[in-house]
Amino acid sequence: MKIAVIGAGIIGITCAYELARDGHSVSVFEQASAAAVASSFANTGLLSASLSAHLSHPAWPNTKWLGGLGASSQIRLGMHVRLDDLRWLHQWRAQKNRDAFLDNLACTIRLAQFSQQHLDAIATETKIEFERTEGQLLLIRSHSELESLNEKLAFLKEHGVVARQLSTEDIPNVEPAFRFASPLHCAIYFPGDSVGNCRQFALAAKKELQKMGADFYFNASLSGIELKPAPHLHFRDGLPSMDFDHVVICTGTGAQDLLDSLQIRLPMATIASYSLTARVREGLNAPRGAVHDQSLRTTIVRMGDRVRVSSGADLGFASEKNNEKTVQHLYHELQQSFPGAADYSSGVQIWKGTFGVMRDGLPVIGQSALPGVWLNLGHGPNGWGMACGAARCLADSMTHRTPPLSLEKFSPLRF
Ligand SMILES: Cc1cc2nc3c(=O)[nH]c(=O)nc-3n(C[C@H](O)[C@H](O)[C@H](O)COP(=O)(O)OP(=O)(O)OC[C@H]3O[C@@H](n4cnc5c(N)ncnc54)[C@H](O)[C@@H]3O)c2cc1C
Repeated sequence: MKIAVIGAGIIGITCAYELARDGHSVSVFEQASAAAVASSFANTGLLSASLSAHLSHPAWPNTKWLGGLGASSQIRLGMHVRLDDLRWLHQWRAQKNRDAFLDNLACTIRLAQFSQQHLDAIATETKIEFERTEGQLLLIRSHSELESLNEKLAFLKEHGVVARQLSTEDIPNVEPAFRFASPLHCAIYFPGDSVGNCRQFALAAKKELQKMGADFYFNASLSGIELKPAPHLHFRDGLPSMDFDHVVICTGTGAQDLLDSLQIRLPMATIASYSLTARVREGLNAPRGAVHDQSLRTTIVRMGDRVRVSSGADLGFASEKNNEKTVQHLYHELQQSFPGAADYSSGVQIWKGTFGVMRDGLPVIGQSALPGVWLNLGHGPNGWGMACGAARCLADSMTHRTPPLSLEKFSPLRF
């Protein structure tokens, strides 16, 4: 079949990879001049089934969790917040149905687990090499913080996520350079989580795609889709319109006007977050894997010869401006937790990216109500961690094969 993939971020690239590998004729259209330049550019790189990232899922619908609810409600609201954003926030926070919430969480864990396995399989098959480190340490500041996590940890265990509680004395065995700048109660170590360089993988996968004969069109912005009844694509800037059997929209937080024109209305909020990346000055002072501070919502990771720290969840801020407070927080936390790790003199990259979060916390993966129009959007802070799995499942669904995981819960038609 002739398939168009719109967007050359990690979601579009992995989707195109699976479709091309299945023998389809694939064309990728990207409005920017290169691949992985938007949200997939400098993310934290976590490949995590423990879903410890801030905003990975909505608040636990249980009063016992109110203490830990901060974990999912600390979104900073800006002056440009829209009524739709506030509606989304209200619905996202108020997960009233506990069974539905747990069911969704289990689906998310399974997708992340399968995705990690599938990423490993692709890397082995293609011999793609990308920077990778193993393990994530979750810092727990107090006994009450640990208590608020107990239910989630039990749930993760039930779903095959390995977690080990470490005393403060044990932490140096995992992260020898970590400095206890403020009191710590304990830590949870997730040996199955890892950090991988998302952009590096995306660019290598693009090369594999080109070897398989996929076409890439850059500076190609999709403006509309006509159904004739198969998708007929229109582009801005003079690119001729083209016919396809199917189109997969992987436009991240972009293309809202396109979705509006197709009357595809998704309850998705666009959250902005930041990362700071610097060269490692002294490896012995740098993290080995990932360290996530649950109360400060900060993650510090090692990525090859660089160290990266990320934080922030802004809704409704002007897109062109950086939040200086968050940027200062990144410098401060890196310096506090791993003093001497970063070489600030050789240049620091401050990056602001966005990700889309659906009101039920699940991504949208599957066929829309329009014939031949497929969506792969809204993976929140785990898009890299879910990309390979989502792509494989979507490719199978398109050809009516049974996917490794059911896409029912992720259907675009669920809203
Ligand atoms: C600070 C930060 C840290 C993060 N950390 C992690 C992490 O640790 N682990 C993890 O799994 N995820 C993480 N994420 C989330 C992850 O980065 C995203 O979920 C993922 O990159 C989304 O990929 P994407 O391909 O959907 O979007 P993008 O990478 O944004 O790609 C979409 C592409 O579509 C293109 N496009 C849009 N409209 C059009 C159009 N009309 N025509 C043609 N092209 C179009 C855009 O130019 C863009 O290149 C993080 C995000 C941020 C911001």
